[in-house]
Amino acid sequence: MLKMTGKTAMVKFLRKRLILYISVAFLLLLMLVMFILYAAIQNTLYDNAKESAFSVANSIYIALNDNIFNSAQLVTFIGNDPFLCNDLFENELNNTEHIQSYLNNIKNIYSFDIVHMASFDSYNYYSQNGLVSTFSKESLNDKWFFDILNSSVSNKGYVPMVIKNGDQIIFNNIHMIQDNVGNKKGFILIGLDYTKSLEKIKESINALDASVYIVSQDGQIENAMFELLNKADTSGPLPQSFDMSLITSNSTNNFVQIIQDNTSISFKYIEEVNGYLVIKQDLSSSIFYIFIITLLIIIFLLACILLATLKVVDYSNRKILDQAALDPLTEIYNRSIFNIKLSEAIELCAHYNIVSSFIFIDIDNFKMINDEMGHTIGDEIIFKIARLLEESKRKNDILFRWGGDEFGLIVRSNLENTLQLAQRILNNAHEIHWKDNAPVSLSIGVTEIRSNDTKKLVFNRVDEALYQAKADGKNQIYSQ
Ligand code: GH3
Ligand code: MG
Repeated sequence: MLKMTGKTAMVKFLRKRLILYISVAFLLLLMLVMFILYAAIQNTLYDNAKESAFSVANSIYIALNDNIFNSAQLVTFIGNDPFLCNDLFENELNNTEHIQSYLNNIKNIYSFDIVHMASFDSYNYYSQNGLVSTFSKESLNDKWFFDILNSSVSNKGYVPMVIKNGDQIIFNNIHMIQDNVGNKKGFILIGLDYTKSLEKIKESINALDASVYIVSQDGQIENAMFELLNKADTSGPLPQSFDMSLITSNSTNNFVQIIQDNTSISFKYIEEVNGYLVIKQDLSSSIFYIFIITLLIIIFLLACILLATLKVVDYSNRKILDQAALDPLTEIYNRSIFNIKLSEAIELCAHYNIVSSFIFIDIDNFKMINDEMGHTIGDEIIFKIARLLEESKRKNDILFRWGGDEFGLIVRSNLENTLQLAQRILNNAHEIHWKDNAPVSLSIGVTEIRSNDTKKLVFNRVDEALYQAKADGKNQIYSQ
């Protein structure tokens, strides 16, 4: 006896430990899966964000190249015309008409919107219509001319300059003109109305949350370009210089992309500008979205796992409960379910007027069957009666083995119908034989459950009915 108790305690202890180990292993596995999932999602989404930043950089380059860099090439080409230096600037003041027709020619041949020329000797400014004005150091409006005059830009230099003429944005390419000994003589200014194309570029840059810089070799940021290309509401002072240590290659073919502090920096050397096109994109919003998406997926998975676990626990709980409430021989409920189900039936009647009845069945002369045929056959008969009852009942009816050779059936029906059901059961029981020509017979008590009933009252009535059926000769149905 003592040995048994020790063994049971040991089994219980091991079972508890096993559940603990399984739970810990499950949790660890779950964490591992979540970690792998998070890493996979994060890497994939982050790579996507980087890739899209890179393709944005490329599309910005293509737009800029089509609209701006190409025209810079043309300016350089025109600037290299030796005639400009030798002829136009040498005899500048006596040559106004010649200058005028030269500028007109360039304008017409290349379809530029503006072709101007400025002289560092005379400070004169010529258009295709002749002399426009003479720059004055005193005039604030003329400051840009003296800035160029004093700048260190050489003849091969390209100075992108922006003039806003009302709504019209004139993007000017300026080419310095030097004489043979390197003296700066002046410059040719070629203007294109980029209003439309630049607005398009700007729109895409704004939408993509990118910053575009043209950076000279020494790290100087071209502010005019920056202002023109970037968001109108760029707050704070404009950046003046760029950290050139970030530029790790002077590739002209492809963009190079580096990631620093969640910022994608794509750069490319642009020959025409003699500098770099740098496109910066903040990836933090992408990273934020990655985080949110991953979080949502994890929450979803957790919810699924939780739901599945609840379902499994619920299922196994029900199974355990079911098993505890099941009679091992007949596999129908045992008496433990009776109290609950009878209370339910009374409540249904009292509150919702749903009528139920109770059938109480006892096999006749069962002791004799056992004595004559042995317990195994007795068991078989009990099992067969259980099957018969199970087949006779409807889905909502509750069948249980009361104990011994007694069965109970709570039927969701009135007395009349229940009596008919009891009769069918009795008739069918006669089909079961415990030995040749010896059909099984039953005594059955039936009662209808009333709204003011108690369990005791119901049971007393049905027990009394069964007793009468037995007392009156068995193999019959009585109701109370
Ligand atoms: P009555 O017609 O008045 O019902 O008489 P009975 O012989 O059927 O007597 P009763 O119902 O009082 O006895 C039931 C017998 O069933 C008593 C017990 O030995 C036997 N029994 C109880 N449980 C089992 C069981 O699981 N298997 C078998 N084979 N016999 C059982
Ligand atoms: Mg009996």
